Amino acid sequence: MRRVAVVSGGNRGIGLEICRQLGRRGLHVVLGSRDEVRGSAAAAALAEQGLSVEPRRLDVSDERSVEELARTLAAEHGGIDVVVNNAGIAMQGFDAEVARNTIDVNFFGPLRLTSELLPLVRPEGRIVMVTSGLGDRRSVSKPLQAQLGKADLTRDELVQLMRKFVSDVSAGRHTAEGWPSSAYAVSKIGLNALTGVLARELAGDGREILCNAACPGWVRTDMGGAHAPRSAEEGAETPVWLALLPSGGPQGGVFRDKAPARW
Ligand code: NAP
Repeated sequence: MRRVAVVSGGNRGIGLEICRQLGRRGLHVVLGSRDEVRGSAAAAALAEQGLSVEPRRLDVSDERSVEELARTLAAEHGGIDVVVNNAGIAMQGFDAEVARNTIDVNFFGPLRLTSELLPLVRPEGRIVMVTSGLGDRRSVSKPLQAQLGKADLTRDELVQLMRKFVSDVSAGRHTAEGWPSSAYAVSKIGLNALTGVLARELAGDGREILCNAACPGWVRTDMGGAHAPRSAEEGAETPVWLALLPSGGPQGGVFRDKAPARW
């Protein structure tokens, strides 16, 4: 049976390249795109290269869109094998609206999508988070580092911390509360912590599912800009490696260039 991979934000940038590389490894790729026209065009271009790809509408900030995808996948594929949480935003400026939107897409997006799709993931499945070097926990205060780094941090505690960041920004007290003035950094710090939380939750699951995060490096995409040193092909390598990890691979880690991140 052909393995099925779901990739969010698959219509451009690193996500499109992850779709291409997974397709080349023989997986059937469900290319998630919040814009159906752009998703169909991206999938058609990959299909022309002989890859097995289907476009699906997916807005990770919209619970109904995520639920609809899960229903479709259950009906048409029965199960899935890989989920790559690639979709992300890096907004200009910093205020309460930027904080709310960024945390919603970059942190709650992967949480929504993974929670909804996990029941469909077959044994030996792989969950991948696309994170960033800016998700270095050392940019928050020591007390927040301790809370985020707790070995028994729960999903609820982490969700409360991410909500607290948004409300602290709204109330103009985020600096006093120990947060940096970067919603993107906090969203990826939260995503890295979520990777560990999900890995612990999966420990008692019995399906041998591995959940890890990959930093792609600084990559030439719309987000990374034209002067970034890495191509999308290079940026996709570590996420794809984590998506195809053999049995007994790492669990709950953050990786860059196929090695544990040093931060
Ligand atoms: P990009 O070129 O800006 O592409 C972002 C993708 O995410 C697009 O497909 C976009 O869809 C999608 N997206 C945004 N919001 C979405 C939502 N609510 N629902 C579904 N899809 C959504 O960015 P990229 O450089 O490829 O980045 C991909 C991932 O790598 C992100 O998580 C980013 O944080 C991470 N990353 C990138 C770099 C870098 O240097 N580029 C470095 C570190 C980490 P639309 O086309 O509809 O906007």
